[in-house]
Amino acid sequence: MKYVIFIPDGSSDYPIDELDGMTPLMAADTPNIDKMAKEGFGGLTNNVPDAYTPGSDVANMSIFGFNPADYYTGRGPLEAGSMGIETTDKDVIFRCNTITQKDNHMDDFNAGHITSEEAEILMDSLNDYFNGKYDDFKGRFYSGVSYRHLFVYSCDSAEDAKLLADLKTMPPHDIAGENLDENTSGDRWDEKLPKFIKKIMWESGEVLENHEVNKKRVENGKKPANMVWLWGQGVTPTLPNFKDVYGLDAAVITGVDLLKGIGAFAGFDIIDVPGATGYFDTDYEAKGKYAIEALKNHDVVFVHIEAPDEAGHASDTAEKVRAIEQIDKHIVGPVLDSLKGQDFKAAILPDHPTPVSVGTHTRDDVPLIIYSSDKTGDECESFDEQSVLKGSLDKKEGYKLMSRLINDDF
Ligand SMILES: [Zn+2]
Repeated sequence: MKYVIFIPDGSSDYPIDELDGMTPLMAADTPNIDKMAKEGFGGLTNNVPDAYTPGSDVANMSIFGFNPADYYTGRGPLEAGSMGIETTDKDVIFRCNTITQKDNHMDDFNAGHITSEEAEILMDSLNDYFNGKYDDFKGRFYSGVSYRHLFVYSCDSAEDAKLLADLKTMPPHDIAGENLDENTSGDRWDEKLPKFIKKIMWESGEVLENHEVNKKRVENGKKPANMVWLWGQGVTPTLPNFKDVYGLDAAVITGVDLLKGIGAFAGFDIIDVPGATGYFDTDYEAKGKYAIEALKNHDVVFVHIEAPDEAGHASDTAEKVRAIEQIDKHIVGPVLDSLKGQDFKAAILPDHPTPVSVGTHTRDDVPLIIYSSDKTGDECESFDEQSVLKGSLDKKEGYKLMSRLINDDF
């Protein structure tokens, strides 16, 4: 038995005037997904437990078969996994943004989308500076993509690490334009955080403000990355191995590092697809081809496509419709064709909605279609927010999807 799960990230939405009251999933021309719906089962599900913000990390962890309430420890640790950084249970992994600070305010949480090459030089300089200055410096900066980096802080014990992981820090994208002192004090900053953390943030400015990289950026009319901001910390997750839990070999195809990180922790094969960018310009056709190949030697393949989510964030309705149509034509169609004649089950669902009118994720239920090659489906005829209500699937937590598929619980 083969299993394929298609995840068009953020594709579900609200009715849009521009689409005559339809949602992008309703408006898109998707003959292959429609066939799946007609011959399969429809319903709603939700991948985001109540206590969590609807991030792609939490939601996709559910779809991959793991309850976030049991296993989610934060975004930073998952990114460390995707970057191949080895951490222990004494480590706390912070997200480290290179930001632009102006007059002690958050001028830009991504430092003008600084390049990875520039940022790598800055992270190296920070390691040199702090290691040289403090004998007891127990941290290390790791450069990632553009403005997204990590700072790993080593605690004396795993207990200390767990305590530190739970303390409040502020996501920099939530405090655009705000005063930085006010966001590192009062109810916005847990005073139990080691003093060193705040010190690193403020002292980074001394290293970065007049750095050659930033001088050049300013000369070229770009924003300087003149401070780092630490946030979103967590301890190394201990996800069980997918095969131990479900008895199946799994692979994931995605252009998003965060999801590669979850897959790495769960023991998935991470399949890199040339041209998979995690953006509108992703090579849909290549993703379809690699998914077909991956299904030849894996029991389960997750195919995640980020483009509809990006279109939602950009409030670009036309691009969202286009992304869904591309997924149908170049991924769902060819993959299902390749499985003809075999026993297989397929599912399609977004991780969360990213409505174009909102421009960010919401926690609403998402539509789900399950198809099985050996079952006749229900009354659901199409994959969208309203059509699935005619289907027969009970609404269950998203993390149960994998066991529902395996145990024919639909
Ligand atoms: Zn997402």
